[in-house]
Amino acid sequence: MNNRLYGNLIFELSKEGRRGYSLPRNNFGDYEIPQELCRAEDAALPECDELTVVRHYTNLSNNNFGVDTGFYPLGSCTMKYNPKINEEMAALPQFQNLHPLQPEHTVVGARALVILLEKSLCALTGLDHFTFKPYAGAHGELTGLMTIDNYHRSHDDLQRKKVIVPDSAHGTNPASAAVCGLEIIEVKSKADGTVDVDDLKRIVAEQGNEIAAMMMTNPNTLGLFETSIPEIAELIHDSGGLMYYDGANLNPMLGACRPGDMGFDVMHINLHKTFSTPHGGGGPGSGPVGVREGLQEFFPNVSPYNGNFAVMMRAYAYILSLGREHIKEVGPLATLNANYIKESLKDVYELPIDTTCCHEFVFDGLKDKSTGVTTMDVAKRLLDYGYHAPTIYFPLLFHESLMIEPTENESKETLDGFIAVMRQIAEEAKTDPEMVKSAPHTTPIGRVDDVLAAKHPVTTYKQMLNDNN
Ligand SMILES: *Cc1c(COP(=O)(O)O)cnc(C)c1O
Repeated sequence: MNNRLYGNLIFELSKEGRRGYSLPRNNFGDYEIPQELCRAEDAALPECDELTVVRHYTNLSNNNFGVDTGFYPLGSCTMKYNPKINEEMAALPQFQNLHPLQPEHTVVGARALVILLEKSLCALTGLDHFTFKPYAGAHGELTGLMTIDNYHRSHDDLQRKKVIVPDSAHGTNPASAAVCGLEIIEVKSKADGTVDVDDLKRIVAEQGNEIAAMMMTNPNTLGLFETSIPEIAELIHDSGGLMYYDGANLNPMLGACRPGDMGFDVMHINLHKTFSTPHGGGGPGSGPVGVREGLQEFFPNVSPYNGNFAVMMRAYAYILSLGREHIKEVGPLATLNANYIKESLKDVYELPIDTTCCHEFVFDGLKDKSTGVTTMDVAKRLLDYGYHAPTIYFPLLFHESLMIEPTENESKETLDGFIAVMRQIAEEAKTDPEMVKSAPHTTPIGRVDDVLAAKHPVTTYKQMLNDNN
C-alpha cells in the first residue's frame, strides 16, 4: 500500500489553491454575513484534487481489517459473516427513509417488522415480550436491571439492591449493575470454570432478602455450558430474586436450548453479534431486552422512539434467510468449529480447562513457557499472517488468556489455515523468539503504546504539527 507516498493525513497532501470541485451557480443573491460571525483567518482546510482524495481514502480503507477481508476469531465478540442480503434489505428506501415521527398509518410495514422480529426472538429464547429500545448489549443490561429494579419497587421490596455476578462475567455486567445503583456480589467459579453453587448457597443464605437478581452468561465467557442453572434458578427464585441472562453472545444457543426454558426471567440479546450486523469501533448496535409475561409493564423508557431500526431489519432478514430449520444449525456448527480448533492446538497451547467447549474457548498462552513469548506476541505475530488477533487477556481468570471464537460460518479450509499458522507461531517461539516478540513486521505500523494513546490522545492536526516540529 502506498500509504507513505500518499501521507497518513489528508492535510499532508494539501497544495495551496488546488480544487477538487466547483460550487454550483449561486441562485440566491448575495448576503452580507455580519462581521462578528466571520472568522479572523481562513479555516485550515486541506486543498486537494479529486483523484488525490479518492486515492487517499481508498488506501486508508485498505488498511482496515474486517470479516470481509479475513478470519476474525475474536472471542466473546462474535465477529461473524454478515450476509449481504441483510444490507440490501436494510437499505431499501421504503424503510431507510422513514422518519420516527411519521403518522402511524404510513409505517404499518415497519411496525409489522418489529412485531414479527419480536415473535421470532420469543420463539428462539422462550421469553414472552421484547423491547427494542436499547442501542447495545450494555444498554440492554442496564434496561433489564432497571426492569428488575422497577419490579421489586412495585412490590415494596426496596431492600433488594444486590446483584450476584460470577467472577468470569463480561465486564459490562458489574458495570451495568453499578450504573443502575445496585451493589455487586461476586460469586466464585470452580476449577472447572463453572459457577460454584456452594459459594452461591452461602451468599443466598446470608443476604437472600437483599438480592435483586443474579446475572449469568451461558455458555459463560470461558465458552463452558453452566450445567447447574436449574438449581441456581431455584435458589435465586426461592430467595425472591430474578434471573438475568446475558445473551449478548447467543450463537451457541440457536437450536440448542432456550434461556426461558432454563429459568431465566429477563435477558438481552446483541442483535449486532448473533443476528449479523457489521459492528465494531462502537456501533451500530441493538440490545433488545426480553422478559417473562408480566414483567413487560416494568420496562423503563431508555431511549426515544423504537430503537436502532436498521439493525433490527438486518436481524429479521438474517432470521428469515436461515428459516426455522437452518437457524437450528447455527449453535451446533459454531460449537463444532470451536472444538475443532481447540483439539487441533491443545498440544502446543495451554488449555487450562480441558473439556468440550461451546462457541468459544480460552487458551492460557503457549504451552512451552520457557521461550518468554507471551499471548501479546502471538496475537501480534498473527497479524503478519493476515489474521485478526483473538481476544487477549480476557477473561481475567488466567494470566495469558487467548480467547478464540471462530463462528459457524468458516470453512474447514479456513480453520485448517488458522490452525497451521498458530502451530507455526508456536514453532517460531522456540526457534526465533525475538522475531515473534518484535512482531508485527508487515503492518503499516508496529506496536502502538495504547496506554499513551489513551492518556494523551492527539486528536487535532495542529497538535500533531507542533509535535513533529
Ligand atoms: C459483547 C458483550 C457484551 C456487551 O455488548 P455491547 O453491545 O458491546 O455493549 C456483554 N456481555 C457479553 C457476554 C458480551 O459478549
